[in-house]
Amino acid sequence: MRDFLGSNIVNVKAHNMQAVLLSLLAADANQDQPLSRIQLAQKTNLSNTTITNLVAELIEQGMVSEDRPSRTADGEEQNRPVGRPRTGLRLVPNARYVVGIHIGVGLYRVALMNLRAEMLCSEMVNVDIQTSAEQVLERIGHSTLEMLAQCAVKRERVLGIGVGASGLVDVQNGVNLFAPNLNWHNIPIRDMLQSRVGLPVVVENNVRAMALGEAYFGQGREAQSLAFVYGRVGVGAGLVVGHELFRGSSTGAGEIGHMILAPEQGEACRCGNRGCLETLVAEPVLLHKAHQAAAANPAGLLADLLKQPDETPPIERLFQAARLGDADALHIVESAARWLGIALANLVNIFNPELIILGGMFAQGRDLILPVARHTLRQAAFARLGEKVRLETTRFGWRAGVTGAAALALLTFFYQQTSSIQATAAPAALYTQPSP
Ligand SMILES: [Zn+2]
Repeated sequence: MRDFLGSNIVNVKAHNMQAVLLSLLAADANQDQPLSRIQLAQKTNLSNTTITNLVAELIEQGMVSEDRPSRTADGEEQNRPVGRPRTGLRLVPNARYVVGIHIGVGLYRVALMNLRAEMLCSEMVNVDIQTSAEQVLERIGHSTLEMLAQCAVKRERVLGIGVGASGLVDVQNGVNLFAPNLNWHNIPIRDMLQSRVGLPVVVENNVRAMALGEAYFGQGREAQSLAFVYGRVGVGAGLVVGHELFRGSSTGAGEIGHMILAPEQGEACRCGNRGCLETLVAEPVLLHKAHQAAAANPAGLLADLLKQPDETPPIERLFQAARLGDADALHIVESAARWLGIALANLVNIFNPELIILGGMFAQGRDLILPVARHTLRQAAFARLGEKVRLETTRFGWRAGVTGAAALALLTFFYQQTSSIQATAAPAALYTQPSP
């Protein structure tokens, strides 16, 4: 039977504080028009007294500042007939920080971000795919402590760490249950990082974290429902409904990479099935096809670009060859974009989101992939549903992973925290210095 929970007085306060902080965050996107106390009361449906008390607490903690409009300012303030001018309230972006950690395949990124998910410093580290999970997490812990020391922010202002990890994640316990691309099984990421760094840690699937990043700090701020679809070594989607992640009944919602598109004649997928989306559009698949085409046509532009001795990632060379009109490269990329469009049409038929944001290599090859995927989506989705959905690419670029992880930490330890605000500042004694 369902439980219908009441709320005690402490939770009521935390709940109200969430409404205030999230309203201030939403208003923060529109810098020209900060909210007044009265507007905040209207938006949250709280009394003026409650707003006054909560705002006083936030100002005292240095998290909110007051913006007194000048007498000569244009617009509304100038025209206000009588009474005090409205005081605008703004979040102080650097009042607190979080660490966002993106664990991908063969690399991790660590970044320090403020309350607006703006990056202050970051580090990217390549990891040999054979490295054990324990060693990878040990290194991530070290990188985090080093970055906190170098970035010179007051440590008591760092609220916690958000981790976006590849694969299936048990969010309650912060455990990576299964990451086939990393060969990780039951890795207690939260406990290992928490004891290494001494900060609270929250863990989520990396693509889901990216979806959250878009919903609160990116292009999805205004969307009631969105899907973030990421493609790299794997392909996955994060689904957000009403600004909340939809994880499904056993955290498997959004496994779009294993949407089966060619069950009989398709290639074998690492999941055990045939013809999954991943076998048609993932980066290694496209690169495999590119190398095959280059071997068949060694004098061609694609072969030439693939063997250039520079640092450009191979997928970028494939896109470059397609942009320069190489027929093989164009065929490989456009056929992947069509399959992606089919998968998106299926996604739209089931989930019908307002907005779909593409990330990873789909955003890298935006000029080539987006028009084809959009056209296919519109053709294939049921009853013109594909024409109503907005299809875009992320504007975060490579930052999408760390921004998503930081968003997860910001929501968990700040904007949607369930305890009183005073409890958020982590005690300084918890921190340990990085070993020299
Ligand atoms: Zn599969």
